Amino acid sequence: MANPSILILPGDGIGPEVMAEVRKIIGWFGENRNLNFDLSEDLVGGAAYDAHGTPLTDATMAKAQSVDAVLLGAVGGPAYDDLDFSVKPERGLLRLRKEMDLFANLRPAQCFDALADFSSLKKDVVAGLDIMIVRELTSGSYFGEPRGISDLPDGQRVGINTQRYTTDEIRRVARSAFELARKRGNKVCSMEKANVMESGILWREEVTWVHQNEYPDVELSHMYADNGAMQLVRWPKQFDVIVTDNLFGDILSDCAAMLTGSLGMLPSASLGVPMENGRPKAMYEPVHGSAPDITGQGKANPIACILSFAMALRYSFDQGAEATRLEAAIETVLAAGARTADLLGPTGGSPISTAEMGDVIIKALDAS
Ligand code: NAD
Repeated sequence: MANPSILILPGDGIGPEVMAEVRKIIGWFGENRNLNFDLSEDLVGGAAYDAHGTPLTDATMAKAQSVDAVLLGAVGGPAYDDLDFSVKPERGLLRLRKEMDLFANLRPAQCFDALADFSSLKKDVVAGLDIMIVRELTSGSYFGEPRGISDLPDGQRVGINTQRYTTDEIRRVARSAFELARKRGNKVCSMEKANVMESGILWREEVTWVHQNEYPDVELSHMYADNGAMQLVRWPKQFDVIVTDNLFGDILSDCAAMLTGSLGMLPSASLGVPMENGRPKAMYEPVHGSAPDITGQGKANPIACILSFAMALRYSFDQGAEATRLEAAIETVLAAGARTADLLGPTGGSPISTAEMGDVIIKALDAS
């Protein structure tokens, strides 16, 4: 059988720096675990604009559609701030998400014990935390029509966005959440505002329908999204998988992610419908941006991007045990005190470089 294929899009700023470390890790799995991938690489964001005058060429888009998974670094930077909106680096990212129809955005909030002091919450609240937020990514208030700003007859202006969800849109993201829960703690909490929004009532009814008809073995609870935000900072360990819409998910996933400390540690996955081979359309990327303030200095933490590859192993390639091996190697190096500059915290110490972090993770994998 052909090797699974991955398109690597390093992008801008620290994107290429952190992706170089991911390539080392991918190489390790080939040499030591007989896990080989067909890798190709292309340009996205500012780098693509510089070369082709567009943040994503049609050819790269077609390649992204044809591979088993896309691994993206980051896009953007001050050099592109004044570009027309239509060719800004972020448009490349949005085009990938839209045309691949990546409707389920997975953001884990996982607290490595060695970094529990980093959280703004008490250590016992976050130590050992491992939750997953599933955010609907292609519908809801950010896309609903009508939208816009217009003038009113009395001289005022009005700004409108529409929260709109269909049965299918809710059911498919609910299925993603239930499937994930079955691979984890078998619990889903669905969040909306059914107390004040009709779209929230529909959301609750459709999630319940999917549960009763397709996933009765998974535990389902419902929570109003505002209470969800409170519960996330009060006692986040009560959750396993949270599923919610685009707008609430945007806010709740940032809130949950920050429970765990540094931006340099946060991976994400965006998944679509299964392809012919059964694998979902998928793009994996760190949550952070291109970090122009530290670009080219060897200071970037590559762990968010490496953890994104771990998610690819688990969710695209059915290699959960190997994903756990990689996560455990990261836990080991952190416990041994390896820190890039962003992980030093108030006590200080001497940081290691981006490449050195990649190297110590490889050493920990060797010992695994
Ligand atoms: P950012 O995430 O790039 O950086 C925020 C802060 O976190 C900076 O101080 C940066 O040095 C630090 N940081 C981020 N990632 C880090 C890492 N891996 N290791 C160590 N420190 C890290 O956000 P920003 O500064 O608001 O945006 C910079 C550029 O990135 C902008 O052009 C923005 O549009 C773009 N951006 C892209 C994405 C994406 O590609 N998905 C996401 C957010 C921002």
